[in-house]
Amino acid sequence: MAAASTAQKVQEVREVTRIERIGAHSHIRGLGLDDALEPRQVSQGMVGQAPARRAAGVILEMIKEGKIAGRAVLIAGHPGTGKTAIAMGMAQALGQDTPFTSIAGSEIFSLEMSKTEALTQAFRRSIGIRIKEETEIIEGEVVEIQIDRPATGTGAKVGKLTLKTTEMETIYDLGTKMIESLTKEKVQAGDIITIDKATGKITRLGRSFTRARDYDAMGPQTKFVQCPEGELQKRKEVVHTVTLHEIDVINSRTQGFLALFSGDTGEIKSEVREQINAKVAEWREEGKADIVPGVLFVDEVHMLDVECFSFLNRALENDMAPILIMATNRGITKIRGTNYSSPHGVPIDLLDRLLIISTTPYSEKETRQILSIRCEEEDVEISDDAITVLTKIGMETSLRYSIQLITAANLVSRKRKGTEVIVDDIKRVYSLFLDESRSSQFLKEYQQEFMFNEVGDKEDAMET
Ligand code: ATP
Repeated sequence: MAAASTAQKVQEVREVTRIERIGAHSHIRGLGLDDALEPRQVSQGMVGQAPARRAAGVILEMIKEGKIAGRAVLIAGHPGTGKTAIAMGMAQALGQDTPFTSIAGSEIFSLEMSKTEALTQAFRRSIGIRIKEETEIIEGEVVEIQIDRPATGTGAKVGKLTLKTTEMETIYDLGTKMIESLTKEKVQAGDIITIDKATGKITRLGRSFTRARDYDAMGPQTKFVQCPEGELQKRKEVVHTVTLHEIDVINSRTQGFLALFSGDTGEIKSEVREQINAKVAEWREEGKADIVPGVLFVDEVHMLDVECFSFLNRALENDMAPILIMATNRGITKIRGTNYSSPHGVPIDLLDRLLIISTTPYSEKETRQILSIRCEEEDVEISDDAITVLTKIGMETSLRYSIQLITAANLVSRKRKGTEVIVDDIKRVYSLFLDESRSSQFLKEYQQEFMFNEVGDKEDAMET
């Protein structure tokens, strides 16, 4: 199992699977804090919720310093108060190199794998292994380049490059990447180039003095470099970060690394994981790898059951544990799988080890700012009056409902060939789509006409 090839394969998969689209939180670009970790009122797509963002900023700083692992945070608050948004802001602020995994509590209950396997995979997705590799840089003068198209008609090119260093002439087989960079750098015979042996990247440094007679033909912009002498091979360190889960999948013989494309990884044998843990420990000892504890975000954590909570409690004690961030909008409720109630549906022993951040409902001004940001994100032009009405709806129903109305109102406006969303468009979609309380009201009025209605016996349930 070579660290280099693992990193390479993972890189390829990542490049293919990156898809961008407008999602519920795509306007969030960070936590919007200044250097002193103070939240700006509106920044990086984030509005208000200052105490929670400040607290999240402190946690973020600890994660970045790599000082904490195996800690757990709970973000608790009313529905639609930005709990998920704050977690996404943290993910953005952490950047590409710190793994961030996001799951909903209910995802654990799948038919394909056991709950603990699903949680183990989520944990291992959230632990990064920073692999350090030494690579050789070879520098020399290009003697000859040959590029051919093979007759098979695949469109691929193959070729050879003869490079002269002071010691000898070496012939390299050209890979696709090398051919691309030869073309990009406009390399010709007589040029001085470097080849990075690990990545195959070719860099053109300039022309050699031995070809100085070409100067007139090339023009004064040509850069001449001294023909290299002495030390021609330099060592450089390159660093890749892959997750423990990615290493698991690549090395699990039944799956193969293609499973990373489909996400269909199935259960991974514990022997594979043990071997990998041992290998990573070896790499750490040899100074070839470091562990980067990332973040596992579990939304709707009250959906986990008592077995999952007990697993989490134990897993957090492992020395390769990530930072666990959970979110819930539940008050005191039953712990799934038991008859006991507990705050947020989380057992007391787990609650006891959590740092709890709470979120509060938004003011009218903040709601308006969030709605404006969403309109911008969705490229929706909206009149001032319309956004005032939308804000009112948001305050009376929910922020989520009013966010949903933006897309629908925009469609209505486009249908009437309008240039911006106006109050009438909002009114129209408000009458077309019910919010939660109008929907409950409707059910109460027309209950007799629905099947299986239990309202008569359980009137209270509807009140919630
Ligand atoms: P629930 O408890 O129902 O899961 P939640 O607290 O996780 O709700 P979010 O999903 O984060 O709420 O928020 C609802 C919508 O409002 C999302 O689109 C989110 O991006 C946006 N939003 C919430 N708070 C903010 C904020 N402070 N700044 C900008 N956008 C926000």
